[in-house]
Amino acid sequence: MKTVPRGTTAFGAWLRRTDGPFTRELARVDAGRGLGQVPAAAAPDRTTTSVCGFCATGCGLRLHLKDGAAVNVTPDADYAVNRGTACPKGYEALAPLDGAGRATTPLLRDAHGVQRPTDWPTALEAFTGRMKELLERHGPESVAFLSTGQIVTEEMALLGAFAKFGMGLVHGDGNTRQCMATSVVAYKECFGFDAPPYTYGDLEESDVLVFVGSNPAIAHPVLYQRVLTSSRKPKVVVLDPRKTETAMTATHHLALRPKSDLVLLYGIARELVAQGFVDHAFVDAHTTGFEAFRDFVAPYDLRRVSDETGIEAGRIAALAHLIGTGGRVSFWWTMGVNQSHQGVRTAQAIIALALMTGNIGRPGTGANSITGQCNAMGSRLFSNTTNLFGGRDFTNATHRSEVASVLGIDEATIPNRPSFAYDQIVEGIHRGTIRGLWIVATNTAHSWINQRDAVELLRKLDFLVVQDMYATTETARLAHLVLPAAGWGEKEGTFINAERRIGLTKQVRRAPGVALSDFRIVKLLAEAWGVGERFARFRDPEATFALLQSLSRGRPCDITGIDGYETLDRCGGVQWPLPSGSTATARDERRLFADGRFFTPDGRARFVFEAPRPLPEVTDPSHPLLLLTGRGSAAEWHTRTRTDASSVLAALSSKEAYVEIHPADAAARGITASDLVEVRSRRGSMQARARVTRVVERGQVFVPMHDAATNRLTHAAFDPYSRQPAYKSCAVEVSRVPS
Ligand code: SF4
Repeated sequence: MKTVPRGTTAFGAWLRRTDGPFTRELARVDAGRGLGQVPAAAAPDRTTTSVCGFCATGCGLRLHLKDGAAVNVTPDADYAVNRGTACPKGYEALAPLDGAGRATTPLLRDAHGVQRPTDWPTALEAFTGRMKELLERHGPESVAFLSTGQIVTEEMALLGAFAKFGMGLVHGDGNTRQCMATSVVAYKECFGFDAPPYTYGDLEESDVLVFVGSNPAIAHPVLYQRVLTSSRKPKVVVLDPRKTETAMTATHHLALRPKSDLVLLYGIARELVAQGFVDHAFVDAHTTGFEAFRDFVAPYDLRRVSDETGIEAGRIAALAHLIGTGGRVSFWWTMGVNQSHQGVRTAQAIIALALMTGNIGRPGTGANSITGQCNAMGSRLFSNTTNLFGGRDFTNATHRSEVASVLGIDEATIPNRPSFAYDQIVEGIHRGTIRGLWIVATNTAHSWINQRDAVELLRKLDFLVVQDMYATTETARLAHLVLPAAGWGEKEGTFINAERRIGLTKQVRRAPGVALSDFRIVKLLAEAWGVGERFARFRDPEATFALLQSLSRGRPCDITGIDGYETLDRCGGVQWPLPSGSTATARDERRLFADGRFFTPDGRARFVFEAPRPLPEVTDPSHPLLLLTGRGSAAEWHTRTRTDASSVLAALSSKEAYVEIHPADAAARGITASDLVEVRSRRGSMQARARVTRVVERGQVFVPMHDAATNRLTHAAFDPYSRQPAYKSCAVEVSRVPS
């Protein structure tokens, strides 16, 4: 690994000397006040509200203050999303701020390869010096950035703007590629825009809810509680190879073979046609392509689908009947669909079921993707990574002109080429064409598919910058430069939740040491880069929100009708769209497509379909089991950097890695409950405790995604349209570790 020399150059001296916004910001940092200070609005010893910073449910929290700083959390009873409930992570929202390993000062790797504390001027000088050197020597495609769904929208917008319009980078993607890219592409192709159509009220308005590859009892417990307490007493259908916690409480569970979901959905579509459940009035008025879809699914008869999915023919026919007669039917999907080698087409098959039965735009209906990260939706619209601001396209000259006009920048600074996706950035590092990488608030070395390759590749970089609230993540430990960032609760801004609700999160704690909000870090970097003036309109988070509103004007996500942060705070969040002339009201809930008009040029939704593809990796005698991965418990979040900081959440989580294995598979291998076993794929292995259980079918095993070793096993296969990694199925073997 290369090192970055330390020392004071003329540039560094200039940074310290210059009287301008940069030095004024820096002076406040050096004085240890200002940037991390709790704002006066958060008066001592009262409460204030905020939106949770873990998952995309976007619960409202009430923060209890002492001497102006938050000391406790309770759920907000007035917030439309959660109505006084929260999952364990919400109750423990403050714990990550006090966790071990917080990044409190910049760290710079020295000539011996050791990360040593440094000051902000030196850190900024290292960033600008090394990045400029790489760009000058190897061109604009030699440096890339990885954004995130974990920071507020205003921060990811400034990050994307500076990286692309300031540094001149072409390639930047987000960790949302790992969770939501499939839904983005599916919606764009079918609806004309990345537009989840639902509101959470639909969970309670449904008569039948079909969850595909989704375990909301664990992943979105607050939402699932709304299903379980619905006065409509709905039928709940779960399509999942594993008997998940949701499947255990469902009225129907179809344990289909891994990745046979697309075949099953096509078979259900054929049965809906055969049983006469097509809503022809809706299909004729509001869609295109149904006849071709009907002809395409004709060969997916019950016998074929039963053979390929392992589900009895009668159960498939009964499910089609339930959907056809169900009244209000809604379809919901998460990572079991998205993280697949054919995720886009699977999501589009779900959309097709909703369209052909007219289950969209009405209460209790919809083809509904539930997002994962707290601000995945913000990233999809405003991170300026693979999409230009507002869901625009970098290759569209009109779109570039609109953005340049709003931001007051030269249109020529906007790249006219699309960005690499995450896997292409990784591949660029592998080829040696990408030499510098700036990672913000994500843990690539843990979470990227096929982890061994990912770690080796990160070590290959000439310059790796990690900007994070922790200096101890697997990725931060590899960095040449660590930029210490404030966490949730130490800064303000907005998140956009899964139902398109923009919620306000507030600063209620002071960031430790000289850690700064990601917003301030990027502002300082822009000044140090010499382009601070170009981003003057990004004055602070609220001014940036106003810019994003302007960037949304005339787009499907138009939010020009929101009157600033005060409106978001007063109304308990506002769903997009809210164009100017509309008025936000408290606890407002709105779904899309009530008028049957979609965002396509002709206003019609499209049926998109394709023959299923074979599994990218098949089993063989040396790797005879299929590995399923997923969320372990409601108390764990992704790579656990934050949830491990809470003793409460730790107590609710498994203490060590485990693998669920069917009793017959365990017996065949001489494995008994709690044995230490090795799970081995063609790429690597991990040790885990055996949980012998019928939760998984024969021939399948399940490992939670949270353990650092899990991605030693996974196979780097991708959906060809969304380029989302297929984390959910690869071939493994399990054997007992001799004692
Ligand atoms: Fe936070 Fe999600 Fe839990 Fe709600 S469900 S409290 S948003 S982690």
